[in-house]
Amino acid sequence: MYAATTTTMKQLISYVLPVHNEAGNIQPLYHALSEATQSLDYNFEFIFVNDGSTDLSLEQLQQLHATDPRVVVINFARNFGHQIAVTAGLDYARGDAIIIMDADLQDPPKVSAELIATWQQGWDVVYAKRRTRQDGFFKRATAKIFYWLLRRLADIDIPQDTGDFRLVSRRVVDALKQFNEHNRFLRGLVSYVGFKQTYVLFDRDKRYSGTTSYPLKKMIRFAADGIFSFSWAPLKLIGRVGYFISALAFIGALYALAVRIVVPEDVVPGWAFTVIAISLIGGIQLIMLSVLGGYIGRIYTEVQNRPLYIIESVTSDQEDA
Ligand code: UDP
Ligand code: MG
Repeated sequence: MYAATTTTMKQLISYVLPVHNEAGNIQPLYHALSEATQSLDYNFEFIFVNDGSTDLSLEQLQQLHATDPRVVVINFARNFGHQIAVTAGLDYARGDAIIIMDADLQDPPKVSAELIATWQQGWDVVYAKRRTRQDGFFKRATAKIFYWLLRRLADIDIPQDTGDFRLVSRRVVDALKQFNEHNRFLRGLVSYVGFKQTYVLFDRDKRYSGTTSYPLKKMIRFAADGIFSFSWAPLKLIGRVGYFISALAFIGALYALAVRIVVPEDVVPGWAFTVIAISLIGGIQLIMLSVLGGYIGRIYTEVQNRPLYIIESVTSDQEDA
């Protein structure tokens, strides 16, 4: 049934587009995509993953499918999150190359021509690296700190200034499908997979319509996934802090002893010092517990091994849908 759909020898490019409340962006995105791809000599499929939108996104996507059979709509039973939506799209995509792109037009579709051309030169991963971005100061600052931390802590080399906007070849997607982890940090996994990776530069646009679905809380969670799933550094930190505090305590003990011996008549009240020491150690212990918690919580979700996503419906012309 696979061969029946490939009537021409043209290669197939799949787009994976996660959608969460993007009703105002779907039409303009589709037009930009059609425009960017029409002069390219490939077959295309546009896989939209509706990740529990509460607006009219799903209706709009189904309308698109009615007018263009290249549009595929995977409709989640609820919101599972951006990284999971992309994962579902990758699972479904049949292309020789797959382009992952946000659905809010922040990733300009016209960059795809460059991504595809670079892939044709023999690269397996072509990520789109931001030359400039329009986001506010806060988003830029937090992103900078996060990438700096990740660079220092992570065991793999995760490129700076890149989101999930990228092209990946068939064999990279096949490799990615072997990663079942639940707390997914896809761009890290793509780096981990290997093969020949390169980048093209682009200017990241403003969100076309609507608001971000990544408030601070989600960003922190996402950053934690990146660090906890690719680094042991926080665990090692516990030990280091422990040694440091113990050394301080040892010095403190020597000092107390010395005072006791040299000037025994000096009644040291010591109350403030005790309180400070106890609360300091208590605070540090709680922080360290939370580091352990970060790993244990993730182990817990992996052990539960629940399905990554639940699909409510698939709208597609492909027989093997
Ligand atoms: N998105 C999603 N599920 C979510 C949150 C976001 O599929 O739970 C999609 C969203 O529709 C967009 C992309 O992921 O296509 C990036 O989200 P957003 O633009 O809100 O994040 P930002 O660009 O502000 O980091
Ligand atoms: Mg966005």
